[in-house]
Amino acid sequence: MTSLDEARARDASDPLRHLRGEFDLPEGVIYLDGNSLGAPPRRALDRIAETARVEWRRGLVRSWNEAGWIDLPMSAGVKISRLIGARADETIVCDSVSVNLFKLATALLERSGYDALCIDATEFPTDQYVAEGAARFSGATPKRIENGEIPENAVLIKSLVHYKTAGIADMAASEREARRKNCLLIWDLSHATGLVEIDAKRDGARFAVGCGYKFLNGGPGAPAFVYVAREEAQSLNQPVSGWMGHAAPFEFSSYYAPAQGVYRFASGTPPILSLAALDAALDLFEDIDMRLMEEKARALGDFFLESLDGAPLTALASTPRRGGHVCVRGEDSYAIMQALIAKGVIGDFRAPDLMRFGFSPLYNTFEDAFRAADMLKRLLASGDWRAAQFRERRKVT
Ligand SMILES: *Cc1c(COP(=O)(O)O)cnc(C)c1O
Repeated sequence: MTSLDEARARDASDPLRHLRGEFDLPEGVIYLDGNSLGAPPRRALDRIAETARVEWRRGLVRSWNEAGWIDLPMSAGVKISRLIGARADETIVCDSVSVNLFKLATALLERSGYDALCIDATEFPTDQYVAEGAARFSGATPKRIENGEIPENAVLIKSLVHYKTAGIADMAASEREARRKNCLLIWDLSHATGLVEIDAKRDGARFAVGCGYKFLNGGPGAPAFVYVAREEAQSLNQPVSGWMGHAAPFEFSSYYAPAQGVYRFASGTPPILSLAALDAALDLFEDIDMRLMEEKARALGDFFLESLDGAPLTALASTPRRGGHVCVRGEDSYAIMQALIAKGVIGDFRAPDLMRFGFSPLYNTFEDAFRAADMLKRLLASGDWRAAQFRERRKVT
């Protein structure tokens, strides 16, 4: 059995505990959904205000040069490169994960001539939908695979951290097998970046996309990123060949010539307010040991599950290495989660029947995990979640 005292003792010896103060979290809320939308870093909020009030209001269009707006997709990309084990010039921040997957998958299908674009049938839905669209666009066949299979002579989209089970794939082993089978692997790092140790170079990963608003805390709708290894980028052509990915956008040439390396994956004008927030949020990771982050995320999830001991819930099976969330099932997971949110413990619901609780090592504490579990147990014991209001399905779950 866990206790509040034990939770506090673990917080007191947590080497990452000083980071919670960097976040502006509301009173009376236990936030366990940083895997869906990261909490706001104070410095990101300040940066949005500064970007709007000073750079936009006073600087106006001059700020593209004077405030460095035009370089932000690359400079934020440098910060992400450090987090994923890429070289500085191999990552660019742009668009959404969906759009970036489309650009990368179609570029790889075109270059390789492969006629299959594969994805596991349990992957995050948008990845599956984009795989269908990108395959159709490329004249290839979308194929659903199972159990982490690596297909031959194909492009494969694969998450490093699974959005439900939180299982962490073995990047190095997958890449070794992919090379033997002539499979081009696109990693989706959405649930992994800013949470687990990633070393793309060491593990041989050449292509990836990832999300800016989850564990990177870039804010709602923050732009995503694309990573392409230097040796590969020069021979790839992406279909949304907009001016920001042109070698010289301000020459206003009539014809497209791609920029160097991964920068050709840019398309249109970057969303500066969002990008500035993400850029500021990324500075929080500057001196952080990602192994500590991964360990703490795992420990928080374990502590939460231990604290639920005896509650009428079943936890989704865990893996030896796990990302930043845990999922449990109850009698009516949707209604229970709605009732829990009404009590100030914020997680989310993932169809068809999972309650998901995300633990961000930057700001979540063992006390959060203990109190959330305690609240959930009381709620289940009281039956208050059975009220009709909690069954009403909302647009975003
Ligand atoms: C969050 C997430 C996305 C988000 O895609 P957007 O197009 O940026 O909304 C995509 N894939 C995975 C695996 C995710 O976890």
